[in-house]
Amino acid sequence: MSCFLLPKGLCNRIEKVVCSFWWGSTGTKRKMHWTAKENLFKSKHYGGLGFKTLRDFNMAMLAKQVWCFHTEPTSLISRCFKAKYYPNSDVLHATTGNNPSYSWRSIQNSIWVITKGSCWRIGDGNSVDIWKDSWIPSYKDFKVMSKRQDNQAVTKVKDLINFNECCWDNESLEGQFLNIDKDKIQQIPLVNTSIPDMLMWMQEPNGLYSVKSGYRAIKQWQTNNNHHPSTSYADNPIWKKKKKIWSLHTIPRHKTLLWRILHNSLPVRSEFSKRGIHCYNLCPRCHSKMETLTHIFLTCPNSCKVWFGSSLSLNFSNIPNPDFREWLYDTILN
Ligand SMILES: [Zn+2]
Repeated sequence: MSCFLLPKGLCNRIEKVVCSFWWGSTGTKRKMHWTAKENLFKSKHYGGLGFKTLRDFNMAMLAKQVWCFHTEPTSLISRCFKAKYYPNSDVLHATTGNNPSYSWRSIQNSIWVITKGSCWRIGDGNSVDIWKDSWIPSYKDFKVMSKRQDNQAVTKVKDLINFNECCWDNESLEGQFLNIDKDKIQQIPLVNTSIPDMLMWMQEPNGLYSVKSGYRAIKQWQTNNNHHPSTSYADNPIWKKKKKIWSLHTIPRHKTLLWRILHNSLPVRSEFSKRGIHCYNLCPRCHSKMETLTHIFLTCPNSCKVWFGSSLSLNFSNIPNPDFREWLYDTILN
């Protein structure tokens, strides 16, 4: 997986096998999948179970090769790939080229991960293209907003630096950029203009790429694309509460049970009826009400006894229209 991009169909098939295994299917017996596959494969940060999507993990592993080619250009493998596929550019701007091997096509396919998630730290400004590269750390996409005009001669960041005083050359900045760009550029500190520029992976505090942070970034970008910009993690209290399950002081089996309760994915009889499976749907303990999540865990007389007899001495009889999931959100996960 770190050298070849697996076909989408194969990834989907493997993920289906993972799901079937998790729901308890065996070779001969198929079990019901009680919640959508997306919920299992969503990050725990966004209320999922945190299974890795193979295609994205594959991409994060391939991006590691791009990062190694970029940071270790003198290694034998980097020199071989450069000589064959991108002799006149660097790996970040490499194209597929003619007659590429499957391995190179796979690696070339993942270059976007590094370019999207990285930003240049300016040293001598020699390697960074002002208009194409990512070098403004305070912008989301790290690129200047101003558009290049046809008559502009400056292309590299070095053209904007006053090397004698180790600061930005205000004259060069004047008239070339929008005011907002100019302010952002002037905020970038120039510490040492005699060292080469360095690419920093912005998803890790140390600036170095790792497969784990690469995968996390890919999932984050996908979530941002799928949700309205205003629906950030901070604005979504349900995601925050679901994430708290994993930090509770209890055994993993209980955490998984809580997660399944919150996703309404336990095999209770009311759910069987909803899925068209006809069976006796009253609670097998008290035989008085339909077996629902709330009935099993809150309102069944047997459950009431357990709650009241516990060290918490809880009494739910005076709560009008109780809902077990609401109660979990309001008490345990609040
Ligand atoms: Zn009951």
